[in-house]
Amino acid sequence: MARIHLLSPRLANQIAAGEVVERPSSVVKELLENSLDAGATQVEIDIENGGARAIRVRDNGRGIDKEDLALALSRHATSKIGSIDDLEAVSSLGFRGEALASIASVARVTLTANTDAQGEGWKVECEGQDMETRLAPSPHPTGCTVEVRDLFFNTPARRKFLRTEKTEFKHLEEVVKRLALSRFDVGFVLRHNQRVVHNLRPAHQVQDQERRAMMVCGSAFMQNAIHLDMERAGLRLSGWVGLPAFSRSQADLQYFFVNGRVVKDKLVTHAVRQAYRDVLYHGRHPAYILYLEVDPALVDVNVHPTKHEVRFRDGRTVHDFLFSTLHRALAEVRPQDQLAQQSNVREIEATSLPYMEQATMPLQSRANYAASSTPAAGRVEEQLAGYQHMRQSVDALEALVAPLEKPSVLATAEEPEIPPLGFAVAQLHGIYILAENEQGLVVVDMHAAHERTTYERLKLAFEQQGVVAQPLLVPVSIAVSDREAGCAEEYADMFIQLGFVVERAGPETLLVRQVPGLLRQADTEQLVRDVLSDMLAQGSSDRIRAHINEILSSMACHGSVRANRRLTIPEMNALLRQMEATERSGQCNHGRPTWTQMTMVELDKLFLRGR
Ligand code: ADP
Ligand code: MG
Repeated sequence: MARIHLLSPRLANQIAAGEVVERPSSVVKELLENSLDAGATQVEIDIENGGARAIRVRDNGRGIDKEDLALALSRHATSKIGSIDDLEAVSSLGFRGEALASIASVARVTLTANTDAQGEGWKVECEGQDMETRLAPSPHPTGCTVEVRDLFFNTPARRKFLRTEKTEFKHLEEVVKRLALSRFDVGFVLRHNQRVVHNLRPAHQVQDQERRAMMVCGSAFMQNAIHLDMERAGLRLSGWVGLPAFSRSQADLQYFFVNGRVVKDKLVTHAVRQAYRDVLYHGRHPAYILYLEVDPALVDVNVHPTKHEVRFRDGRTVHDFLFSTLHRALAEVRPQDQLAQQSNVREIEATSLPYMEQATMPLQSRANYAASSTPAAGRVEEQLAGYQHMRQSVDALEALVAPLEKPSVLATAEEPEIPPLGFAVAQLHGIYILAENEQGLVVVDMHAAHERTTYERLKLAFEQQGVVAQPLLVPVSIAVSDREAGCAEEYADMFIQLGFVVERAGPETLLVRQVPGLLRQADTEQLVRDVLSDMLAQGSSDRIRAHINEILSSMACHGSVRANRRLTIPEMNALLRQMEATERSGQCNHGRPTWTQMTMVELDKLFLRGR
């Protein structure tokens, strides 16, 4: 056993650095947060070789006094909190006073700064085991520049873990993007090996903010996103959500900010997923940039330096608010909104050309969906076979559904205005409807579109009729835990609302006496079990509703016009008008797009036709 001894300052800092400094992107995050904490309105980030060779962050914040320069580099040195009470109300991004010391222990750091009061720039460098510092004059405007060279030069084991220049830069760019989306009032410039990658000017107007969001997330996202801004009971949600048809294979375009801080949180993710449930293609991820504002007293911002978690005092209310706001927003999108957004983005694009090429991300093309068949189709067929006897209720519900042959609006020559999806001109191979609208050509997948409009009407009919409950001749007995039985008792009312009667028949036994008619054939035991475990884990469950929707969806699928059916022009127009009037009509029940637009400009491009 070695004798007990004090760690040298550098070693102590290096150990701390293990937590804070994982790779170049973590350095960038710390430096940028410091700049923002210092009140900077303009930040320039210069990167060499993915950040491994050099990271330089220059800001116009309030700067650091000559006397404090050396202190800024030492551990447990901060200007942000003075007492434990400050922790409660901390509004700065950092406050542990660890970042600069940690970074300086594993890299060559120079800190140059000036303040208004001081009027002359000074710089400090640190070296050696004890991290003693060297101070020298160095011209600098008010603000601060931190240069970090040769990251992990003295910890070769960690340096080995750095990935390629490109990968490290991607991580680091992601950090800049997140902060750029959280602070529209600050300008950001990011250069890599002297090439400008992002130049984002401060954006105070909504249009400028849309432009920044577009430069960060790509114009394809913005063209397929809707803007929302909703306030209720002290909660405010604003931002942009991608239309379901603009889903992604990765959860890589999801930005959620709580009171301006980036947050990755289970409750948030769950609420958002649930809002997209009925409209998202299986296994795909939604895209969004969302800002939640809450009374700071109602949220604990986790003090973990790298994780981005929050704890809401009233998680249930936040969950419900997020879910219902997003659910509504997605339901209300009409083709006309989508077309308006697309032309809005084209306009923004036209006025921000200089930076566009550098800024756009690879686009997610709608063509990706073309080759995919319905994965759920087999299952739906199977399920439907089991629901043969359900025909009755199917017929009853369908009799509400107006037949397609009776168009609600007729396309006549006098019609003064062209409707958003235009007028049908032809049917293509019995699958697509071609229509002409103001912007050019509209192509509609007729089965997908009809399936969605039928589904939405079945849901509406179901809601209006209320749940038709069906008493069971032989009640289903379920063995559960004491806790689950208690939960079932507690939520007896919720079960009744959904058409179930669930009673406690013993300490660990439940009896199901009644189920909704539509779920007669479902596995009652499994469903009740799943609902109880949802209730125990999250305090809510939308499983029964999801199950009912699944059945309505398969009914809609079978009740809709199949491919290869000839439609007359009035029938096609009727479908177009239905789509304009129906919630969520932009995607079929499986989340694939139901229609697409080719503008005259796009067509002209195809034919090299100048205008
Ligand atoms: P923390 O941010 O947790 O306080 P840091 O090690 O990141 O700890 O920074 C230490 C101190 O250095 C900060 O509290 C702040 O006073 C000062 N500082 C760091 N970066 C800047 C900057 N860009 N502009 C002004 N002051 C800064
Ligand atoms: Mg800091």
